Amino acid sequence: MKSFAYVNAAGEKEAVAALGPERGRFLPLAGGMDLLALMKDYIAQPDRLVNVKGLDRAIARTPDGGLRIGAAVTLTQLAESAEARRMYPAMTDAAAEVGTPQIRNVGTVGGNINQRPRCWYFRNEEFPCLKKGGSTCYAVDGENQYHAIFGDGPCHIVHPSSLAVPSVALNAKFRVVGPTGERVVDAGEYFQMPDRNLFGETVLAPNELLTHVMLPPPGAARTATYEVRFKQSHDWPLAFASVALSMSGDTVRGARVVMGAVAPIPWRSPAAEAALTGKRLTEEAAMTAADAAVQGAKPMTLNSYKVQIARTAVKRAIMKAAGLKTV
Ligand SMILES: Cc1cc2nc3c(=O)[nH]c(=O)nc-3n(C[C@H](O)[C@H](O)[C@H](O)COP(=O)(O)OP(=O)(O)OC[C@H]3O[C@@H](n4cnc5c(N)ncnc54)[C@H](O)[C@@H]3O)c2cc1C
Ligand code: SF4
Repeated sequence: MKSFAYVNAAGEKEAVAALGPERGRFLPLAGGMDLLALMKDYIAQPDRLVNVKGLDRAIARTPDGGLRIGAAVTLTQLAESAEARRMYPAMTDAAAEVGTPQIRNVGTVGGNINQRPRCWYFRNEEFPCLKKGGSTCYAVDGENQYHAIFGDGPCHIVHPSSLAVPSVALNAKFRVVGPTGERVVDAGEYFQMPDRNLFGETVLAPNELLTHVMLPPPGAARTATYEVRFKQSHDWPLAFASVALSMSGDTVRGARVVMGAVAPIPWRSPAAEAALTGKRLTEEAAMTAADAAVQGAKPMTLNSYKVQIARTAVKRAIMKAAGLKTV
């Protein structure tokens, strides 16, 4: 690992002051589950690490009846929050499914949402792919079984964060601080496709930090996340879905349907949302929406199996939100 300087920032102002505008030179360090692995593999080689575990570690109600989750809250803390679970099961279920207890005890909300892609070519220093400034995406003609089935490239990663997907489904807002103050970004606008931002995955500037995830009041919404894994293991899901359904009695008034592990960003499906709106929540309605969700998928050479898995994840997430039996 390359040697680096270390700043122990007491709070957000001090942390921002210790970052800088050059991409990759100064990096925030939260639980270190992702960043330290990248540094050991020479994929990240910062000159300075800024410890951001001093950011807000609280989960608190907001005056409007929503919830505000600090970036330094651990995944275990979020998964075990009774209030968060009652209000947003889509979020707490996603947190509870991440990795292993050890990873959840150390990994933070801010670090999870900003973790870097898992593409094995990206993670291997011997492959100078597009995302690292090279001229080739090795996944196109290579081992692409876990890559994207949506999006037109030029990079075909899937977004790795389990919390990103329910954040978009729940219409969360992300509070961001930087040298000129704070801004609030819709979760749906936070993640960026590779054709807009090849070297990063979000709108964050190198000297900005995510400080809070703010969830709107749940109202009468029913929410759920459903993940499909290769087997019962600690690994990332093959595909998953989070849904938020605003209900009027048994009828869906509005829906947000978002798929994970299928595209470089959490992949919202307007077609699935339209298919649900105005319908009663039944297995048939869930199936129709799930079919709509995977229309337009463009699998790569080795991952067409993910289309069926994504369809199943959407159907089961809807049924779970509806309180219908999923298997
Ligand atoms: C075996 C294994 C299985 C896993 N399975 C899953 C899974 O199923 N789902 C899933 O989502 N994850 C999974 N993970 C990833 C793990 O959840 C993340 O690595 C972890 O949550 C990162 O959080 P951290 O606090 O350790 O972040 P760090 O490693 O400290 O940081 C991660 C990145 O975010 C940046 N960062 C940190 N905090 C902030 C901030 N506040 N603002 C801006 N940038 C910031 C850092 O600079 C770094 O680039 C798995 C990991 C392992 C090892
Ligand atoms: S998918 Fe992206 S990160 Fe992976 S090899 Fe292609 S360009 Fe690199």
